[in-house]
Amino acid sequence: MPWRDLRVGGERKAEAAMGDGIERLREAIGKARRAVVFTGAGISTESGIPDFRSPGGVWDRYKPIMFDDFVSSEEMRRETWRRKIETDKTMVNARPNRGHRAVAALVERGIVSAVITQNIDGLHQASGVPDDKVIELHGNSTYAACLDCRLRHELDDILAAFRKDETLPVCNACGGMVKTATISFGQAMPEDAMRRAELETMAADLFIVCGSSLVVYPAAGFPIAAKRNGAFLAIVNREPTDLDRFADLTVHDEIGDALGGAVGNN
Ligand code: NAD
Ligand code: ZN
Repeated sequence: MPWRDLRVGGERKAEAAMGDGIERLREAIGKARRAVVFTGAGISTESGIPDFRSPGGVWDRYKPIMFDDFVSSEEMRRETWRRKIETDKTMVNARPNRGHRAVAALVERGIVSAVITQNIDGLHQASGVPDDKVIELHGNSTYAACLDCRLRHELDDILAAFRKDETLPVCNACGGMVKTATISFGQAMPEDAMRRAELETMAADLFIVCGSSLVVYPAAGFPIAAKRNGAFLAIVNREPTDLDRFADLTVHDEIGDALGGAVGNN
């Protein structure tokens, strides 16, 4: 039987048994009055969307385009839309997986009050979590918005025009620049989402991180804030994360198996 490292309350304990971490996660969920789930790219890899930092992830292929470069350079805007067409090949066909379904089940049961996500793929909503319970810290790449007046623009027309002759989209209402509704590096964080995420974090007695390397700030500040505020912090991630030392429970496993096992869904 394989052994796993489980760090409990900061102490390292090697525990036997596949299901130990999952069992402890189940117990923590059973005791919670108000839980928050915080997700990163790792929850969507089982849906076929590569994460950033695993081998073969997006990071190996693309250098990020900073927000200022998008705004100041037409070529960078074109490059951004070229990448969008490339990444959409996996994104548009992706369906929620067992991990997303486990999260949706916890929301449905009233145990999880909010899902704070760094993901931009819309898969929590697709798995049945109501829009008002998904807090998107880095926006959403399944539609676009004007950078000036924020008017929403759908992607179909934009991508069709771009595919033809690399025409860059312009806002129908104000003529401003249109970009996918995501937050780029160097772009201001969405105020409303940040405020809601803070409130939910401070109200939580259980905070479950799923599939994030926890290196991108300010997003990674939420698990720390939850722990400092007295919540039980559980981290479910294939590899160790930067914040494992703060966690009450770490489960180094595949999210679908770990969360699906703890919640009891397929
Ligand atoms: P990350 O790539 O830095 O970390 C993902 C973590 O998930 C890694 O530590 C990896 O070991 C783990 N992981 C991957 N698949 C797993 C699985 N099946 N089971 C358990 N663990 C698994 O991602 P991040 O922390 O979210 O930060 C990167 C940024 O990338 C975020 O800001 C996000 O906006 C963006 N991003 C989003 C998507 C998406 O929407 N699906 C995809 C790629 C990147
Ligand atoms: Zn506009």
